[in-house]
Amino acid sequence: MEESKKSVAAIIVSVLAFIFFGSLLAIAWNVAQGLFAEGGLEIVALKNTNLEESLLFYLFLVGIVADVFFSLFLFLLLTTYRQAGFLASRMTRDLLASREMFLQLYNNSPVPYLLISKDSKINLPNKAALRLFGLSAQELEDQNLLDFFLADDLDHVQTLLSRVKNGVPFHEEELQIVRSDGTVRWVIFSMFSFKSVPGKKYKSGLATFVDITERKEIEKVKTEFVSLAAHQLRTPLSAIKWYTELLASKDVGGLTPEQEKYLEKVYAGNERMIDLVNTFLNVSRLELGTLAVDIKPTDVVELMESVFEELEVQIQEKYFKLHKEYDENIALVNTDPKLLRMVFQNLLSNAVKYTPKGGELRVEIKKRGSEFHIIVEDSGLGIPKNQQDKIFTKLFRADNARALETKGTGLGLYIVKMIVEKFGGSISFTSEPNKGTTFKAVLPL
Ligand code: ADP
Repeated sequence: MEESKKSVAAIIVSVLAFIFFGSLLAIAWNVAQGLFAEGGLEIVALKNTNLEESLLFYLFLVGIVADVFFSLFLFLLLTTYRQAGFLASRMTRDLLASREMFLQLYNNSPVPYLLISKDSKINLPNKAALRLFGLSAQELEDQNLLDFFLADDLDHVQTLLSRVKNGVPFHEEELQIVRSDGTVRWVIFSMFSFKSVPGKKYKSGLATFVDITERKEIEKVKTEFVSLAAHQLRTPLSAIKWYTELLASKDVGGLTPEQEKYLEKVYAGNERMIDLVNTFLNVSRLELGTLAVDIKPTDVVELMESVFEELEVQIQEKYFKLHKEYDENIALVNTDPKLLRMVFQNLLSNAVKYTPKGGELRVEIKKRGSEFHIIVEDSGLGIPKNQQDKIFTKLFRADNARALETKGTGLGLYIVKMIVEKFGGSISFTSEPNKGTTFKAVLPL
C-alpha cells in the first residue's frame, strides 16, 4: 500500500475507535441514568443534587478523556508501526541496491580479483581474473591458488599466504603465474584478509593481480639494449686505456709536463668510463639473469681486506678511524667471490664517500648459525628519513649525497640488493642524518 493511503487508514481506524468507544460510553451513560432513575443504585444520593456535581457526570467526563487518549494512542501506534515498516522496506531496498552495486563493481573491475579461502582455494573470481587465468568461472572455482605459480616461487608464495592468514597483508609482489594454455604472465600480486563474522579470525583473503607482462617486456628490451651498448663500448675504452698507458710510458717518445698532465686527465676520465660501463653491464646481466654465478670456497675476510686495499688511498686521505671485527670462527664460505666482492666494494666505497674527514668506519663479519653477517658502519652524513624507503631503487641518490658528491650513479645499492637476494640473503640498514649509517647483509653460509 502507498504511504499516503496507509496514513489515511490510520486516521480512519483511530476515528472509528473514537466513535466506537464514545458510543459505548453513551450507552453506559444512558443505562446508568436509567438505573439511578429507578432508584436501583444507591452509591450516592444523586437525585437531589445538580447533574454537574454528580459522580456520574465526572465518570462520563473521564470516559470521554480516556476515549480521546485511547484513540490518539491508537493513531500513534499505527503511525509508528507504519513508519517502522516503511523504514525496514527502505533499508532492505538500499541493502539490495548496494549489494548489487558491489557485485557489479567487483565483477566488472578491470583488476582481477579472487577470494582465497583458508586452504588456498579460489572462490568468486571476477571477469578480469577469468581473462587473466584463461579459464571459465566453473574451471577456476575451488582450484588451489598455489597451482598457478612457478615451482621456484612456491615457498615464497606460501610464506606470503600464511602471513595473510595471520592478518598481515602484502602489497606489490612481482611474480609470474602460469595460465591455462601454459603461457606465463608477470603480475603484481597483493592480498589482504578480512573477516565477515565478528570474532572469526580469517574468513577469506582478497587477492588482486595486475598484469605487468608488457611492462616487463619493455624493461627487458631496454636492459638488453643497455647490455649491448655497454658491451660495445668496452672495446674502444680498452683501446684508449692501452694507448694512454703507452703514451705515459714514454716508449713512443717523451711528453712535455703539460702534455703529461692532460694525459693523466684523459686516463682518469677513461677509467671512470670503464667503471661506469662495467656497472651498466653488471646491472643488465643481473636483471636479465645472464650473469654466470661461480660458487667456490671463499675466504670472505681476505676478500674484504682486498677491498680495503683498493680503497686505501681514499681512506688515508680522509684520516678515518678504522674498526675491523672479524669472527675467528668464520672458515671458507661457499659463494661467488666476484659477486660478493661487488657487495663489499659498494658498501665500503659508499661509507668512504659519504663520511667526512676524520670520521669512523667499522666493518664486522660474523658467523651466526647457518648465516654470516656483514656489517658496514660509518659516522657520515646519513640518509634523510623521508628518502630511506627509496634507497635500494635503481638510479636513486639522496639529496644530501648529490650535494656532497656529484659523482655517483645510484646503481651501487641496487646491485648490492640484487646480488644479496640472488644468494638467498637480505640487506637492511639504519641511518641517522648527520650521525651515520649502518648496512647489514645477512647471507647463508
Ligand atoms: P651512488 O653511486 O650514488 O653512491 P648507491 O646506489 O651506491 O649510489 O647509493 C644510493 C644512495 O644511497 C646514495 O646516493 C646515497 O644517497 C645513499 N647512501 C648509500 N650509502 C650511504 C652511506 N653510507 N651514507 C649515506 N648515504 C648513503
